Amino acid sequence: MADRYQSFARSPLGQTLVRRLGLPDPPRLQRHTPGRPVLEGPVLSGAAPAGWAGKQVDALLADLGAPNYPADYAALVFDATGIADPGQLRALYEFFHPVIRSLRPSGRVIVLGTEPRSDPAQAAAQQAVEGFVRSVGKEVRQGATAQLVRLAPGAETAMESTLRFLLSARSAYVSGQVISVDPATVPDVTDWEHPLHGQVALVTGAARGIGEAIAATLARDGARVVCLDIPAAGDTLAAVANRIGGVALQCDITAADAPQRIATHLQRGIDVVVHNAGITRDRTLGRMSDAEWDAVLDVNLAAPARITSALVESGALRSGGRVIGLASITGIAGNAGQTNYAASKAGVIGLTRAQAAVLGERGITVNAVAPGFIETEMTARMPLVIREVGRRLNSLAQGGRPVDVAETVAWLAAPASAGVTGQVVRVCGQSLLGA
Ligand code: NAD
Repeated sequence: MADRYQSFARSPLGQTLVRRLGLPDPPRLQRHTPGRPVLEGPVLSGAAPAGWAGKQVDALLADLGAPNYPADYAALVFDATGIADPGQLRALYEFFHPVIRSLRPSGRVIVLGTEPRSDPAQAAAQQAVEGFVRSVGKEVRQGATAQLVRLAPGAETAMESTLRFLLSARSAYVSGQVISVDPATVPDVTDWEHPLHGQVALVTGAARGIGEAIAATLARDGARVVCLDIPAAGDTLAAVANRIGGVALQCDITAADAPQRIATHLQRGIDVVVHNAGITRDRTLGRMSDAEWDAVLDVNLAAPARITSALVESGALRSGGRVIGLASITGIAGNAGQTNYAASKAGVIGLTRAQAAVLGERGITVNAVAPGFIETEMTARMPLVIREVGRRLNSLAQGGRPVDVAETVAWLAAPASAGVTGQVVRVCGQSLLGA
């Protein structure tokens, strides 16, 4: 749906009013187009004493062709892995203070840290890094973003796909996130434009909205995509599948035989499963019918759990596979009128973490993407005032696009993202809700 305020704010009259009245000024976000380089300008990198990821970062930045000299920066990257005591936090100030105002529009701030451990000084210092990064995300302007990547010891060799995603225009609507990377055996990538070449992916709810964008993005990245949606959406589903060279599978995921049907359809093997199908049936708790409660919990939570189990038990989901669930910031923050939806989406987060622990033994990663306000038919149905508030209450002052969720799913789906599991990544422009 068109964001009319954003179009108005960019007109000559709108610009004047925005400035005079201090209204939100949604920047134009740079997004990825095929062939676009990860970085299009100089990068400054630095490290706190005793940091252990900096060498790897510098090698990666050199690989990306990023010059490292004082200028207006496309990215500022700081290795804070060596910060083990609150006194050492000053290194963050000393690195960023002189240069933060030289960050370009749609620039990137990335801080590498580590998990807070039981040592109080280390835990305090590393938790402090999170507060720092989240605040930087709220201070930087014009579409710039800030993220914290927490590396487990030894994970610096598994961080490349994550850094590429976060540095690039693919992460346009992702900001203020904390992403943990574990050590993992990562394949040599020769073609970063087609990381899913030769793979099979299933996307549920693929006939429209976010699911359609995910299907198209995974196909762009080389996957053969099985596009699934309800029979009533059969025509649009077929059109999507044809357009992206995929296959259409009409199926209601809540049907009793759905897990078995899907597993049989995919019995020759599947690499990536994206549980995107979802519904809302909004009503305050006292007025909610049991059918409204049941439908939302079944489509959004119970059916994806049953389908993953069937794909694992049948052996269709290959070792090294990827399972990606769609949560929501509503599942993190809660929302009046959405007890059923918030419960289902919070449940997706719990399921993700538990399955990640179990399936990790087979090299299967399980992650969730939690969108904020994304411009789709689901959000177009919201009452005007709620819709307008939802759009603006984030650091980028605008709603995201389906492709922003799709790019995040594609990063998690890539073989090179083997070190990222059990994570919940918000695609919300750093929404104030549930922060
Ligand atoms: P949408 O309503 O535009 O599309 C959902 C698709 O799922 C539809 O094609 C629908 O037919 C399909 N679907 C519904 N029930 C199904 C079933 N039983 N079996 C098979 N397919 C079924 O929704 P969207 O906005 O594109 O959202 C996609 C996902 O992202 C959902 O899980 C949603 O909860 C989540 N999400 C969306 C937003 C947003 O702002 N749009 C925010 C947070 C989370």
